[in-house]
Amino acid sequence: MSAKIIDGKKVAAEMRAEIKEKVTELKSAHGISPCLAVILVGDDPASQSYVTAKERACAEAGMLSIDRRLPADTPEADVISLIRQLNEDPSVHGILVQLPLPRHIDEDKVIEAISPEKDVDGFTPVNVGRLVIGKKAFLPCTPHGIVHLIKSCGIELDGAHVVVVGRSNIVGKPMANLLVQKSETGNATVTLCHTHTIDLAYFTRQADIIVAAAGQPGMITADMVRNGAAVIDVGVNRIPADNEKGYRLVGDVDFEQVKEKASFITPVPGGVGPMTITMLLFNTLEAAERLAK
Ligand code: NDP
Repeated sequence: MSAKIIDGKKVAAEMRAEIKEKVTELKSAHGISPCLAVILVGDDPASQSYVTAKERACAEAGMLSIDRRLPADTPEADVISLIRQLNEDPSVHGILVQLPLPRHIDEDKVIEAISPEKDVDGFTPVNVGRLVIGKKAFLPCTPHGIVHLIKSCGIELDGAHVVVVGRSNIVGKPMANLLVQKSETGNATVTLCHTHTIDLAYFTRQADIIVAAAGQPGMITADMVRNGAAVIDVGVNRIPADNEKGYRLVGDVDFEQVKEKASFITPVPGGVGPMTITMLLFNTLEAAERLAK
């Protein structure tokens, strides 16, 4: 059996079209144009391209974006003061600080400076706490996108055993927390694995759904997957390749082998990635809609 390939681009495009319609409605009914402020400190090429992609997505959805690119040696206090200005600016609905930040800046302090009402990445302690206790919150974009992707394929989450590999604050932990909620987007039984897990394969082989978010190219091999499991590959890893760029992107899953055993699988690129930016648009729209209520 060969797995059904989950087309993240298609699901994302459908969601973005719906978001665009709602943006138009919000403008015509309430005169509100959703606006995302993006802060980038430094000149890391990968971060620059992520920021450009996010701003392009805003424009395509009919949203505004404000671009604040700061030099790599910007003092922490200046970044925080910029965030405070944006917190106070009623025309800005969402604030995103592109991570990672240069080493002299304390990421936690910067994130905590963002108003929870504008925290469209869902990284502030208030939104993380609200997610954990099952209250309405801005949900982190990658895990939120994964839940949409799973549901769009009709994969049953209720009662499923989901094994999440990776426990970062951006992907693994919020993923696990979202899936255990007593809600439509949860009701799964979750096992959260990391580098101290003894015998990772023992756990992944029991999974109905595997979410691989370790940042390790091809680490989930076919022998770690039971027949018919759904496999969601979050990993985006650069490996050397004989092409113009000198690299190509691969996930955490050995796609070619695993697709012969799984029922569903996401490709890299074109799986989870397109959903992450889509959920950023979703959260920015929601932040703006709250003003209209
Ligand atoms: P981090 O490096 O912050 O976290 C990786 C996690 O994986 C850690 O918890 C680590 O465990 C665990 N881990 C690493 N190696 C192993 C292993 N061999 N066995 C078990 N667990 C392991 O990464 P992120 O969560 O930020 O990202 C993970 C991947 O997802 C990356 O490839 C990243 O590029 C990609 N990503 C993709 C996104 C998208 O939109 N498609 C968005 C965000 C990330 P421990 O805590 O013990 O160190």
